[in-house]
Amino acid sequence: MSENEPAALADETQVSTTAIAEVAVTDQTIAENPLRDPRDKRLPRVAGPCVLVLFGVTGDLAKRKLLPAIYDLGNRGLLPPGFSLVGFARRDWAHEDFANVTYEAVKEHARTPFREEVWKQISEGIHFCPGEFHDDGAFDCLSMMLKEIDETRGTGGNYAFYLSVPPKFFPTVVEQLKRTGLAQHPDGSWRRVVIEKPFGHDLASAQDLNRITSAVFPESSVFRIDHYLGKETVQNILALRFANNLYEPIWNRSFVDHVQITMAEDIGIGSRAGYYDGIGAARDVIQNHLLQLLALVAMEDPTSFDANSLRREKEKVLKAVRLPDDLATGAIRGQYTAGWQGGDKVIGYLEEDGIPKDSLTDTYAAIKLEVANRRWAGVPFYLRAGKRLGRRVTEVAVVFQRAPHLPFSKDDTEILGQNALVIRVQPDEGITVRFGSKVPGTAMEVRDVSMDFAYGESFMESSPEAYERLLLDVLIGDPPLFPHQREVELSWQILDPIEEYWATHGRPEGYPAGTWGPAGADEMLARDGRVWRRL
Ligand code: NAP
Repeated sequence: MSENEPAALADETQVSTTAIAEVAVTDQTIAENPLRDPRDKRLPRVAGPCVLVLFGVTGDLAKRKLLPAIYDLGNRGLLPPGFSLVGFARRDWAHEDFANVTYEAVKEHARTPFREEVWKQISEGIHFCPGEFHDDGAFDCLSMMLKEIDETRGTGGNYAFYLSVPPKFFPTVVEQLKRTGLAQHPDGSWRRVVIEKPFGHDLASAQDLNRITSAVFPESSVFRIDHYLGKETVQNILALRFANNLYEPIWNRSFVDHVQITMAEDIGIGSRAGYYDGIGAARDVIQNHLLQLLALVAMEDPTSFDANSLRREKEKVLKAVRLPDDLATGAIRGQYTAGWQGGDKVIGYLEEDGIPKDSLTDTYAAIKLEVANRRWAGVPFYLRAGKRLGRRVTEVAVVFQRAPHLPFSKDDTEILGQNALVIRVQPDEGITVRFGSKVPGTAMEVRDVSMDFAYGESFMESSPEAYERLLLDVLIGDPPLFPHQREVELSWQILDPIEEYWATHGRPEGYPAGTWGPAGADEMLARDGRVWRRL
């Protein structure tokens, strides 16, 4: 069987016979929400029989996101009864110990309410395989364990291998999967590998990583996680643009003045010095999350939402991205110094545990890009990301040109800004439209007001976590929300010249923790007669 599309169909067919009882849970949830249209009788997409093998189960990502997401999927009726989870880690644990760890993670971090019967069903499929990545014996045990699980739980030889591990171990684990034959799928089954970002730290290393994985798994079996693509609001960019007629006619250089894409974090690097130092803000989040957001905002409508059509349009945008002529003024980096955050005094980056005193790592990056095509020529896309900024917020703001003529007195429109459509990715997911409105009273004074759509209010339910959606898509074999290797390489082609320039020019500009980044980033916009949005 060829990978992915046929496998996905096979999965879904099997589901209708195995997961009926579970599906009922979801239908009930739908029925309880009065804002759901009762005409919507579509069955949810449900995974077929399979095993998820999670490498790195003692890590932060597994505990906070992956294990809770598996429970949430089970609770929503989206996992089949035979679903099995295998944890792999260097701990002397029995199956029950790993089940206890999973239980704690679920209790602490799951999005949906705890239900004993769901937990019981999931916990029956929990297994643990102790070992180090370079230990052949441990992988041989894993292989035997998976065969047994197939026999006892009817998982049919369908395995997803999730590498929630430091990137330097990707090659070792992939090589072990090849050696044990676990990467090869017998007829009628599938094997998939899931890789977490970062996909390399530059173009050359991303290509190396791809050479290693593609020698073992076909591209159609490689699922690269950029968890932003699993967020409802990010997918809603496509709905907003292509399901409505309101915005698309003005979504171009004739009406849009500029676009600001911001990912601000209020936290510092915490205990992740080993990962973060030498990587920095631009490699950590601009290369992936922010460039993906840019691609979704700027792309043309795909002919369908299948993976190929969607990726093709995103790739066209990434290919059309142009860097500023002068990187000294168009690509600014910063590093936080000591300051105040939420009333607490916090230390600077160079004082953090594990950070060399002369580190040049950027904890803030702001870049001005252009998308050189007919729709966007001349419209700047300003991207900024940083740690220890004023508050945690991720948003895309499409800022429109001023009205060509204002038939009001200058005094009456003194504090009228530009219209903007703001897609709030986190924390309170939704969309805001900013426009001018008359201030009540006898004068014709006009000022900005906002119109808000909030997910939580409109649909009366919280959005699934990104990892719920992405894990389910892996198990179903549905690839549109996973970046293709070509997108990864195009993104590095955008970032590499900037990183090379920074590596040979000075050091990052300091900014006090709790502020909005270095002065150079404000000057970058001021030179264009613009300001960053106040968030
Ligand atoms: P982490 O906390 O450092 O966990 C790494 C895991 O790998 C641990 O379970 C660790 O086990 C295991 N491991 C390391 N060396 C091993 C070896 N030689 N043999 C067996 N196991 C070994 O990392 P993380 O934060 O969970 O991140 C995992 C991946 O997700 C990374 O690629 C990261 O870049 C990516 N990611 C993480 C986040 C996040 O929010 N955390 C977000 C986006 C992407 P021990 O406990 O035995 O050390």
